[in-house]
Amino acid sequence: MDQEKRNFTEMKRRVYQVVLPILALALGLNTALQAELPLNLYTNLSLLGGVVVCWFLLLTRFPFLLIEWLMLTLSGLYLLSMLMQALYIGMLEKGEASLGDFIIWMPLIVIATFLVLEKRMAATANGVILLLLIAPVIPVFGDLSPSQADSVLLLYIALAVYTFVFYFLNSLYQRSAEQRALVRFAFIDSLTGIANRYQIDRWLTEKIEAGERDGQLFSVLFFDLDHFKCVNDTHGHRTGDEVLKQFTGVVKAELGETDRFGRWGGEEFIVITDSGEDGAFDLAERLRAAVDAHDFGKAGRLTASFGIAVNRPGDTPESVQSRADERMYVSKRDGRNRITGRTKVSGT
Ligand code: GH3
Ligand code: MG
Ligand code: MG
Repeated sequence: MDQEKRNFTEMKRRVYQVVLPILALALGLNTALQAELPLNLYTNLSLLGGVVVCWFLLLTRFPFLLIEWLMLTLSGLYLLSMLMQALYIGMLEKGEASLGDFIIWMPLIVIATFLVLEKRMAATANGVILLLLIAPVIPVFGDLSPSQADSVLLLYIALAVYTFVFYFLNSLYQRSAEQRALVRFAFIDSLTGIANRYQIDRWLTEKIEAGERDGQLFSVLFFDLDHFKCVNDTHGHRTGDEVLKQFTGVVKAELGETDRFGRWGGEEFIVITDSGEDGAFDLAERLRAAVDAHDFGKAGRLTASFGIAVNRPGDTPESVQSRADERMYVSKRDGRNRITGRTKVSGT
């Protein structure tokens, strides 16, 4: 989760690095085109300065969250000052009928708050912004014409609706992300990151169904680390866990794209491969040799014992798995670091 948060922050940093110069350019153009309003000029130039400062800060080690808060505050102040100008100069002095174009930028501040803040904080921040925008209007509301009043009310309603929509979208996204995480962890072994027993069972069921339907052959390699208990007893459980992770990496490096690999439990693993006994035996031999050759660091050299079963008509996930399991025990009994299939055993 921490990693995901860091990735998200990194992504935001890169997005800001691109968006801020574009924003600065847009502000520059806007200032050049609307230079007739002096107050507008000052507001735009202040925001432009702020944007440039934020962009430079992004290149430094300045705390990222503070930069985001700075951008939020600047945007809030910008909106407030634009509203004041539109209200006091545009409407009350010049008699303009509406607040003008600037309100089309309103959704941006709402999006920005939801990007930077947790959703309840973002909703609160938008509530504060709304109050800040309401306050200066109260004393002069009675002086506004019906169409001017409409325009101001529309701004408030739009801000409230955008906040509500983004709050809702954010909740929806959060729920679906949680759902995805739950689904992921339902199928994955938390220590090694490979498939867990539940996922293996589903694969076996799928493979057996395909075998019954189309006569497709597949093999189950069931394997278990030899004398693994000694690793735990001698070096502790943490080293044992580390060995299991390394072991997973060693096996993965030997597998083909269609091979499926999972942890059955403890130090027992399964590979399902789309081949008959000969192909499965070759694969098991590659795995056996790779494990045998690997240096497990503190735990030194380790070996594994393998059993192979090929699917037969009438098989169930349990029957094919337990055949492979029984043959793995034959490998153990015969001296470990070996492979046992139906017709082939190590050394034949
Ligand atoms: P054999 O060669 O007969 O397989 O001997 P073994 O010592 O490997 O077999 P045994 O089944 O007696 O021991 C398996 C050990 O695996 C016992 C258990 O404590 C350990 N184990 C199971 N799951 C984990 C785990 O997630 N982490 C660690 N560190 N150890 C585990
Ligand atoms: Mg073992
Ligand atoms: Mg075991």
